[in-house]
Amino acid sequence: MTNFPNLIGGEWTMGTQSVPNVNPSDTADVIGQAARATADEMDQAINAAHEAQKDWAKSTPQQRFDVLDAIGTEILARKEELGDLLSREEGKSLPEGIGEAARAGQIFKFFAGEALRLAGERLDSVRPGVEVDMRREPLGVVGLITPWNFPIAIPAWKTAPAICYGNAVVLKAAEAVPGSAWALADIISRSGLPKGVFSLVNGRGSEIGPVMIDHPKVAAISFTGSVQTGRSVAQACAVNFKKVQLEMGGKNPMVVLDDADLEVAVGACVNGAFFSTGQRCTASSRMIVTEGIYDDFVAAMTKAVSALKVGDARDASTQIGPVIDERQLEKDLEYVEIAKAEGATLACGGERLDGNGYFMSPALFTDTRNDMRINQEEVFGPVATIIKAKDYDEALALANDTEFGLSAGICTTSLKYATHFKANVKAGMVMVNLPTAGVDYHVPFGGTKGSSYGSREQGRYAAEFYTTVKTSYTQA
Ligand code: NAD
Repeated sequence: MTNFPNLIGGEWTMGTQSVPNVNPSDTADVIGQAARATADEMDQAINAAHEAQKDWAKSTPQQRFDVLDAIGTEILARKEELGDLLSREEGKSLPEGIGEAARAGQIFKFFAGEALRLAGERLDSVRPGVEVDMRREPLGVVGLITPWNFPIAIPAWKTAPAICYGNAVVLKAAEAVPGSAWALADIISRSGLPKGVFSLVNGRGSEIGPVMIDHPKVAAISFTGSVQTGRSVAQACAVNFKKVQLEMGGKNPMVVLDDADLEVAVGACVNGAFFSTGQRCTASSRMIVTEGIYDDFVAAMTKAVSALKVGDARDASTQIGPVIDERQLEKDLEYVEIAKAEGATLACGGERLDGNGYFMSPALFTDTRNDMRINQEEVFGPVATIIKAKDYDEALALANDTEFGLSAGICTTSLKYATHFKANVKAGMVMVNLPTAGVDYHVPFGGTKGSSYGSREQGRYAAEFYTTVKTSYTQA
């Protein structure tokens, strides 16, 4: 039996409690035992990080580059093995698992380069003979709280910039995916990063999360997860004047116009709505389709979605893996019933499938209205809807009629509509003739409205969150 211990102040520990890590494709497959940290262990990790950060803040760009580059190199070299572990514990298909592991490696490589490029600014003062310079400094200890749906990429895209800019990290990964977090911590522990600069403290969010958030030695919290948890994290951070960044849910629209290439549109919608079992914050759960193409689109989508192969995540023929756990599967099936009760037509899927795992057939609904619960609330599973719109203007209005604003897409061959949509849709990321999910690792990620709070993650924009600016005045 494999153990997935925590890394606290540079020491591996299973602590006093552990929980099984179960494969959602086959619940008889127990992948290992994962340490469940106590409040005391969280406190120890934070104290160790606070001490270690003092020296790490003085590290040279070369030292930071070397550490981040070494982590990225090892992840990329082991992407198949890491991707397999990821698919086994999270349930996304093997190519998606390997792709995510590769992306984590690329993120570390990107921030290795950024460590060499952290620039300040210098201006002449408005007062004669005085110079002003502005530099970015580390925050101190940064607490990272991550969800289960990207078990290695999200910890990577928070950890890499935090370390790059001279901070120490305490990572609390999601309970469902301790193996990937452990594998990342294992690689980091052998990268040359001084002990204590990175700690992994897995455990129950409601128990040890508040210890991290309220701790006086934690300067900032970067959180990705549900709106409900995010709201409580933000409130606690505000009371303690902590810097906070939240990435939360989505109800991402994909607009399909009459002039769209049908094949491109169906490809983008099937991928955006159902790949990774629809468990992506950027999933296109609402397809808004104009009248002229509606019937053809519904027919082509129903055919494509019905043909998707659901099965064990690590089976080569699988396109859609299991849902993460029983609770999420019940929630997905409950939304299928809610949609039916609201008058939506189930075009295909929406049923629990036989097997030892948490499988359901991808559900596609037609004849839905945007004000239905199924179109306003995040399901976070393989459940998507189609809404008919009169024309582009109505489609845009429907796309924006949501409390979320993470990603939005449009399929069109019209430059005029594509350009107008990019300028007027209320979302942090816009995709033209591409799925709403699937982003690059070197550019900013984040949304508007109820989807995100605080500054952007990833790319060079990550420096906004992981540094603070100091302005110095010098009279020569
Ligand atoms: P969740 O909110 O249940 O959990 C997220 C993390 O918060 C976990 O590590 C959990 O242990 C921790 N947590 C729980 N209670 C806590 C508390 N009281 N204090 C501190 N931490 C606590 O979310 P989830 O179910 O793991 O993930 C699914 C959600 O994540 C979806 O809503 C999805 O849209 C969102 N998500 C958003 C993005 C994005 O970038 N916008 C990316 C992936 C997932």
